[in-house]
Amino acid sequence: MNPKPAVLVNVDDNEPARYARSRMLRKSGFEVHEAGSAAKTFELLASVSPDLVLLDVNLPDMNGIDVCRTIKSDQGASVLVLQISASAISAPQATASLNNGADCYLVEPVDADVLVATVRALLRLRQAERDLAQTNTALVEANRKLTELNNALKRSNDDLEHFAYVASHDLQEPLRTVTTHVQLLDRAMGARLNESERELFGFVVDASRRMSALIEDVLTYSRAGRSTPVFGIVSLDDALVWALKNLAQSIHNTGGEVISDGLPKVWGDGVQLAQVFQNLIGNSLKYRSATAAPRIVVMAKRTADDELQVTVSDNGIGIAPEFHERVFGPFKRLHGGEIPGTGIGLALCRRIVESHGGRIWVESNVGEGSTFRFTLKSQGVDGSA
Ligand code: ADP
Repeated sequence: MNPKPAVLVNVDDNEPARYARSRMLRKSGFEVHEAGSAAKTFELLASVSPDLVLLDVNLPDMNGIDVCRTIKSDQGASVLVLQISASAISAPQATASLNNGADCYLVEPVDADVLVATVRALLRLRQAERDLAQTNTALVEANRKLTELNNALKRSNDDLEHFAYVASHDLQEPLRTVTTHVQLLDRAMGARLNESERELFGFVVDASRRMSALIEDVLTYSRAGRSTPVFGIVSLDDALVWALKNLAQSIHNTGGEVISDGLPKVWGDGVQLAQVFQNLIGNSLKYRSATAAPRIVVMAKRTADDELQVTVSDNGIGIAPEFHERVFGPFKRLHGGEIPGTGIGLALCRRIVESHGGRIWVESNVGEGSTFRFTLKSQGVDGSA
């Protein structure tokens, strides 16, 4: 099927000239309507909705330049105007015409081929403009949908987080009652229980302890997502010292050592950054090698991107490369029953580091120790590594 021909209105009060031009344009495949006055032009604009108007400057009832201004203010960019003057015209006249909205200006005598080529070029230009506008509209719409989806996702994440927070908070109370009463029962009946009954009792005590740890961790994790970090200039050294104090017992029990030769100051939340150290170093102690005491090195250096990169490396059991990403998911554990834990620690670290605008990852192989790295924004804090 042939495309619909472009619709033109040929305006000229000189009938023979108008007739000749219309004939030539029709031959070139355009649908042409004719007007000899401004009044007829406006009538045709309403009835045939042309793509382009070829407009003579001299009309009996109105100046062609004013006709052009009226067309452009009524129809905007939807109708193209090619102004044609039969008389020799001055530069100010041509300028006035273009300033009043004409898309092009030609002076008679106009070569037939040049006229057709000009009309085609103008129509092409307008089509390109329309395509661009259409693409733009589609883009704006796609963007709006994306924003809508993002908001819905954020709302559903917030709801889920709120649910996890409330559920774990409310679970604490009945669990505390269970734990307390199991302990009371143990005290009251412990001596009377036989060995298998005591074993069963041990399972209950153990399970309630694990559940309590799990709930506590879920609460810590969801709290980290809900509360806004309290940013300020903090010393990473202080954060490390705080973490080491909390881990003093495990360091002592495992015969481990933690080495650091001075960390810089950063822009962040001191309590949260201490939690990151505590989780990473706590893991290095937990997932230690069976043959060597834990040796953990904490360092910081500036990267080429002017970020601060902090590393915590150990000589522990290591992590196979295929699990490097998975270990950061909540409740994801590689070493189940034999080593205590809930699988929240690294997820919490990731959440904290990301809320500081950084990234966290691990480099490791089984049996070769692990190096956890995280970045923090420098924020102009004086902190040479
Ligand atoms: P948890 O220690 O409570 O299991 P984490 O989220 O801290 O939870 O760690 C997830 C898993 O990643 C651990 O269960 C362990 O298998 C692995 N992992 C973490 N840190 C280390 C490490 N330093 N060396 C070896 N494995 C590790």
